[in-house]
Amino acid sequence: MRALARDALRRLTALDDAGLRRSTRVLPGPRGPVARIDGREVIVLCSNDYLGLASHPALAEAAAAALAHHGVGAGASRLISGTSDLHVEAERALADLLGAEAALLFSSGWAANVSALDALFGRADVVFSDELNHASLIDGCRLTRAAVHVYRHRDLDHLDALLRAERGRHRLAAVVTDAVFSMDGHRADLRGLRALCDRHDAALYVDEAHALGVIGPAGRGLCASEEVTPDLALGTLGKALGAAGAFLAGPRPTIDLLQGTARSFVYSTAPPPAVVAAATRAVALALGADDRRARLASHTERLRAGLRADGWRVPDGDAPIVPVLVGDPTRATALSAALLERGVLATAIRPPTVPDRTSRLRLVPTAAHEEHHIEHVIGAFADLGEPLR
Ligand SMILES: *Cc1c(COP(=O)(O)O)cnc(C)c1O
Repeated sequence: MRALARDALRRLTALDDAGLRRSTRVLPGPRGPVARIDGREVIVLCSNDYLGLASHPALAEAAAAALAHHGVGAGASRLISGTSDLHVEAERALADLLGAEAALLFSSGWAANVSALDALFGRADVVFSDELNHASLIDGCRLTRAAVHVYRHRDLDHLDALLRAERGRHRLAAVVTDAVFSMDGHRADLRGLRALCDRHDAALYVDEAHALGVIGPAGRGLCASEEVTPDLALGTLGKALGAAGAFLAGPRPTIDLLQGTARSFVYSTAPPPAVVAAATRAVALALGADDRRARLASHTERLRAGLRADGWRVPDGDAPIVPVLVGDPTRATALSAALLERGVLATAIRPPTVPDRTSRLRLVPTAAHEEHHIEHVIGAFADLGEPLR
């Protein structure tokens, strides 16, 4: 074996020993509330398909129609080979969804976050980032040449102190936050953040990945819910909207600048037209999905209450992200395996996705689940013996 593969084997063994090795699982068939594993039906509680749109026939139809007219591939970056009307139409719908002047599509939220911070901020600038922000924002911070300061999770006093100490030395400043934190379901205090940003002349960059489609009037996100106008917002198309890709939305000049300078827009092939068409369809569905949002909220409340009543460590919250805190990664994996035996698929979330000693199961109900699914999950947890608790 050559050095690279030998080193990989050594590191995999170390990850195994620490209970931190990761691998994928094959789930045949469409994404939905249930799946078949080894011929057995299991309830899937670990997608971000909040509204159950990923396998909605209307999305598949929109994609199929686009495939028939536009083919599969976008061919190149839109700056090079031109843009399809489908991309422009989607951007109009997405800008409207967030009440922004303009929007720009990216192949993924990851690519958008990393590129936006890199494109908008440079050596003279400073970025402040919540310590529990998504990995893509963290990597955006790593890549930008701006100074970066991490503030304690949702700690506005800490952020204020950092802004006081650092703001004066820099040209532009930005505060970057998840709207709903992806592994805990906490909401950011967007009004508090907006007020601090205004006081210190800083821009507010909000990642709506887990809020869009779920929170706010017609699911328009946490900014809409709090009546806060961000300087830039990220929305993903692969979570509640059931498709794939992402967009940045904001004032026209910011979006126009990003179109020519965000490296994952400039140097990466545009998202496939069929996926974009499906996303546009999803926006229309999501806007009218108050019934689905109500079902999602009711499942979330029942799941939280049922698990807490049974003594599981489930922090307060109302997002459809229900963390069951375990602590040790090996125990989280064992708990996940025991649940799978009882027909529940909930993947263990371990460091570095979450901080040390906070390994957990992250349960996500969707609008596509039925009440009996949620009751089955609560029953499966109740079934578990002392060593797993
Ligand atoms: C999932 C996620 C992203 C990345 O979006 P993708 O389109 O899946 O790459 C960005 N930010 C947050 C908060 C996320 O949860």
